[in-house]
Amino acid sequence: MSNLKSIDPYTLKTISELPELTDVEVAQKIVHSGEQFENYRKTTFAERKERMLKAAALLKERKKEYARTITSEMGKLISESESEVEKCAWVCEYYADHAEAFLSERIIESDAERSSVIFQPVGPVLAVMPWNFPFWQVFRFAAPALMAGNTALLKHASNVQGCAAAIEEVFTDAGFEFHVFQNLAISSSKVQQVIEHPGVKAVTLTGSTPAGASVASVAGAQIKKSVLELGGSNAFVVLKDADLEKAADTAMTARLINAGQSCIAAKRFILEKEIHDTFVEMLRERVSKLQRGDPADADTTLAPLVSQVQADEIEQQVHASQQSGATLLAGGKKEKTFYEATILTDVEPGMPVFDEETFGPVFAVTKAENGAHALELSNQSDFGLGMQVFTQSDASADLFVHEASEGSVFVNGLVKSDPRLPFGGVKTSGYGRELSEEGIREFVNVKTIWKS
Ligand code: NAP
Repeated sequence: MSNLKSIDPYTLKTISELPELTDVEVAQKIVHSGEQFENYRKTTFAERKERMLKAAALLKERKKEYARTITSEMGKLISESESEVEKCAWVCEYYADHAEAFLSERIIESDAERSSVIFQPVGPVLAVMPWNFPFWQVFRFAAPALMAGNTALLKHASNVQGCAAAIEEVFTDAGFEFHVFQNLAISSSKVQQVIEHPGVKAVTLTGSTPAGASVASVAGAQIKKSVLELGGSNAFVVLKDADLEKAADTAMTARLINAGQSCIAAKRFILEKEIHDTFVEMLRERVSKLQRGDPADADTTLAPLVSQVQADEIEQQVHASQQSGATLLAGGKKEKTFYEATILTDVEPGMPVFDEETFGPVFAVTKAENGAHALELSNQSDFGLGMQVFTQSDASADLFVHEASEGSVFVNGLVKSDPRLPFGGVKTSGYGRELSEEGIREFVNVKTIWKS
């Protein structure tokens, strides 16, 4: 049996080391989840709404405490942790207010006297979640799943078990009945047995592409539905007619949020040749002002990476890309968990920083001949989570809107998730959608009713 260990990325001190649940304890929790589902599914939307609004209120009340837990376990800037907790309150309020309308009966004309579809919960759903947005990823799943009448089992990343316990506490304190939302403190080696348990009806995973492939194959063998939110290597395209100041400011957030450890972070910067040198200089100037330090300190603007392993991986991706011809313009140095904000130019397909997901503060810059070439480069990726394009031309924007092989296209703005808009990827970035109306319909039985 392995222990679940959490190490503060800044101090490198061990915060906690917990034994994982035994197989018997895991099975018990799954059974409890199924038993509670039989009661919980009969609650009204109004009853669920009351609890979900309470959860939102608790998140706002406890924002500072939970933000400290996030920052100490995975190292992001404290301001980012606080925003994350606030966003969780927003998604709770959003689904509290809209779930009933999203899942109300839909009348459909047919040969019947009356035909329709109704949406019913499926039962206990397993959520396998990552450390990088340790509150947001969980609430993004849980708010719609619980409002739909499902019960939830969380398998959180091993290094953020303090966050996992805090989230369970929010739902319990908000008045959700015992076992509606349960944290399973287990390592990834026990995920297969949880999915295979007959009491678990579906699974969602947010994480890396290999983890997604593994979970999907186990779920597939059991004919259980899965939703996968996986990695990304978003393009950030700047065309020659773009508002460069706006694009450069957005580029900093797009690449550096969470110290670059975000699925939707901009990773590949594709610049039309006429503005390439100017834009790179604008990036260099902004990067030089970053202040690394304690992420709990409000003045710090560059946080550490989650672990030394993560910093080693970024270093290796940058080195290998340099060896293949990329030019190091800024940064490139590592110290323990810190990796400098780094700009690489002359990046081309075939280099690690272009082909792979870079989970750290690395701007990989590629020069494009024109808009069509920029689109071709943007699409030249196994990932397809989202991309942003900066241009003043409607025609150029439309080309990307229609031809980019992505789950989302943002024009003149940052790729971000928003409870009101569906979120998800294509290609190896996964399948299924979270958020909005589409998100709440993933874990329901769409039941057809025909009456003569
Ligand atoms: P990860 O290593 O894939 O871990 C994610 C979760 O899956 C953890 O709970 C992990 O448990 C578990 N896991 C790992 N391997 C597994 C396996 N073979 N079978 C079952 N479960 C497994 O990813 P991460 O490093 O935490 O997060 C970074 C990745 O998540 C990046 O690729 C990022 O792009 C992606 N991500 C995607 C989205 C999105 O919405 N598309 C959002 C955020 C992050 P342990 O911790 O116990 O190993």
